[in-house]
Amino acid sequence: NAPLEIADPEVAAYVAKEVQRQQQTLEMIASENFAPIAAMQAQGSVLTNKYAEGYPGRRYYGGCENVDVIESLAIERVKALFGAGYANVQPHSGASANAAAMAALIKPGDTILGLSLAHGGHLTHGMRINFSGLLYNVAAYEVSKEDYRIDMDEVGNLARQHQPKMIIAGWSAYPRHLDFVRFREIADEVGALLMVDMAHFAGLVATGLHPNPVPYAHVTTTTTHKTLGGPRGGVILSNDPAIAKKINSAVFPGQQGGPLEHVIAAKAVAFKMAADPSFTERAERTLLGARLLAERLIQSDVAQAGVEVLTGGTDVHLVLVDLRDSDLDGQAAEDRLHSIGITVNRNAVPFDPRPPMVTSGLRIGTPALATRGFGAGDFVEVADIIAQALTAPVGELDPAVQTALRARVSALATAHPLYPDLGVV
Ligand code: PLP
Repeated sequence: NAPLEIADPEVAAYVAKEVQRQQQTLEMIASENFAPIAAMQAQGSVLTNKYAEGYPGRRYYGGCENVDVIESLAIERVKALFGAGYANVQPHSGASANAAAMAALIKPGDTILGLSLAHGGHLTHGMRINFSGLLYNVAAYEVSKEDYRIDMDEVGNLARQHQPKMIIAGWSAYPRHLDFVRFREIADEVGALLMVDMAHFAGLVATGLHPNPVPYAHVTTTTTHKTLGGPRGGVILSNDPAIAKKINSAVFPGQQGGPLEHVIAAKAVAFKMAADPSFTERAERTLLGARLLAERLIQSDVAQAGVEVLTGGTDVHLVLVDLRDSDLDGQAAEDRLHSIGITVNRNAVPFDPRPPMVTSGLRIGTPALATRGFGAGDFVEVADIIAQALTAPVGELDPAVQTALRARVSALATAHPLYPDLGVV
């Protein structure tokens, strides 16, 4: 039982390098965050050894007395966080949660209506070669060409036309609130079930800083590692006991075998932390950071370079940058920010003329920096660094500019140490 450094120095070396990478760069991938040490301890614990097929009190294995308590804690905490009557905390990921929720509630060949992937939806909302596109008949709504927002009248029209069995509301790249009331009205009108996938904005919902879909949706799915700030994983919520029963059997034995009790323990820790007032304060800074970034990127010096902010701002933790009128494409912009120590991901914008591997957009998020402790002044600084990087002439950044921007990034990283107990930099 040698420690990692001795048992496997190769893996240990790259874990150490990854700690340094996370410490020394600014993480602005909108779907990422930094899990608390306490959650990582739970996840790295002996719970990884335990088989616990079934649910608390109804297991198919002996020795579940401790994991039963832990899983029950996770369930009760997440129910309280979102005001849900029922929770399943076993899905291994957001994609697994969506697969299980669909398997529970609709049949292969049924029609689903979700936001198109090209307009900000997720793979699991009906992408052609994802399980959702292979198993179900897919209809998709898009954002409007005029204001890049979801047009609820159009969603209603498509629902009446396609008669879906399930309507999916939720997104991976969309900067505005959704109208859950209208989504439910439309679902009721056409006899569909409403599934809300709040993976991206769950942390904002938990703090009351975003409308809560749980009262409106028949089923709500989420990940636990994005704005919610916990370990990688999924959760399914509902208020309907009949749906809850179907969800439980769709997760186990329908889709999964043994639950990952070490991850469930880490989820329990994260749910406890998300209920703390400090988490609300962090979510407020997350939103403030995104707003400040959007405000900087709509100023004239940036607009003159052909860089725009989709919808002109944001209600959430991310900003979608539109580079269709810029000589810089999504790939080049991502590389350029990477070269100065800022990690983002390129992202197709709606009606994108460039190919999907290149794209004309960036998705830039603030949750991870807020977790690091960034406040208004830091976000203004990071927004200005991004503005300067995106407006510099196309091609390699001028070395002097690159050095100067990288130094400003390092100063921000140093001012907000990450995981200092894991060894520094
Ligand atoms: N749902 C949405 C809206 C997402 O954005 C994502 C991940 O990006 C998922 C589901 C899938 O989560 P996971 O990567 O844990 O499978």
